[in-house]
Amino acid sequence: MCPDRLDALIIGGGPAGAACGLLLARAGAWVALHDRGSRHDEMVELVSGRARRLILESLKLPPDAIDGVEVAQTLAFWDERPVVRDAITNPWGAALSVVRRSFDGTLRTSARAAGVQVCENSRVVALAGGPPSGAWLVTVVDSGRRARQCWADFLVFASGSIRSRSRAETDRFVGLLARCAGGADTLPPMLVVERTQTGWWYALPHPAGGRFVGYCVPGRLLRRRRIALAALLQEHVGQTRLISRLLAGARWGRVRGRLSAQMGPAAAAGVGWIAVGDAARPSDPLSGQGLEFAIESAQRASAALLEDGARAYLEWVREVTERHSKTRAAWLADYAASPPS
Ligand SMILES: Cc1cc2nc3c(=O)[nH]c(=O)nc-3n(C[C@H](O)[C@H](O)[C@H](O)COP(=O)(O)OP(=O)(O)OC[C@H]3O[C@@H](n4cnc5c(N)ncnc54)[C@H](O)[C@@H]3O)c2cc1C
Repeated sequence: MCPDRLDALIIGGGPAGAACGLLLARAGAWVALHDRGSRHDEMVELVSGRARRLILESLKLPPDAIDGVEVAQTLAFWDERPVVRDAITNPWGAALSVVRRSFDGTLRTSARAAGVQVCENSRVVALAGGPPSGAWLVTVVDSGRRARQCWADFLVFASGSIRSRSRAETDRFVGLLARCAGGADTLPPMLVVERTQTGWWYALPHPAGGRFVGYCVPGRLLRRRRIALAALLQEHVGQTRLISRLLAGARWGRVRGRLSAQMGPAAAAGVGWIAVGDAARPSDPLSGQGLEFAIESAQRASAALLEDGARAYLEWVREVTERHSKTRAAWLADYAASPPS
């Protein structure tokens, strides 16, 4: 049974929200999580070796809890020559290629088992009150459009990235994504990355077979296009040397677009609330660390709530954001200076 007033209400049931709920509930808090349903369900993403370790050690889920294909090698065609990197040289070990529906579902099921009241297809539509005057009054609407209200002492924003209004071309990358199956592909289940003059490509093993392919391009390139996304993707794959060979003769599934590298909030915590995952800072596929940050921020935010306050958490988010922005800026400068021939 749930009390009339929750200790914490989590807005968003992606990896960050589910992990944070799980940790708070295990510590004895009354927690509800509302998720309106994800648009990333069909996405395949890479759970880094470090993210896997965090899931094992911080969330204490068994090693086989997460379904996916183990990815022990990266084949990168970034400059003149392709380079193979082996997970054996990575202190965190192999990564895992997962379907987000299954990955997020496992984390939400674990949160539920820990005592979180998980409300799927439930959208938070309004917030009122909050400190210093008292608890938050939260209004949620379910899939049948029924509205209800509940009280919570604390809010966790885990609602994903915030849309950028910036039109600066370096600021907006779009990922064009599709599953490809069949064809001449004989490579083992590795991550393949390649850059071209217009953007960069990656291919991950799809847990259901074939490859999941992503092409990240600046938004301006798509604004000027005169052809459908699927046609553009197939036209541009011709610029690649590795990915085109990998996908030769493959059947392309539906192409989806996903905006990346969006803005972060002005702050990641305030009185009576904290933000985790993409809601705490922008992430993009260049970093390959979105899920890692989601789990680690959930762990650090729950510690901030239960033990030591938000100061250390804010400092950590600031450091990670700064490091990420520097790497991204260096990458973009390098890209602009020496586009591959
Ligand atoms: C093209 C692309 C490829 C990527 N590939 C990788 C990769 O391979 N590896 C990696 O580590 N990272 C990758 N990322 C980053 C990764 O997807 C994100 O960092 C990760 O999804 C963040 O998790 P989250 O829980 O913070 O947010 P999300 O996964 O976005 O979850 C937020 C949830 O909150 C819900 N929600 C939002 N508003 C409300 C509301 N008002 N009420 C109720 N629910 C709400 C949403 O529906 C959603 O389910 C990629 C990103 C992009 C754009």
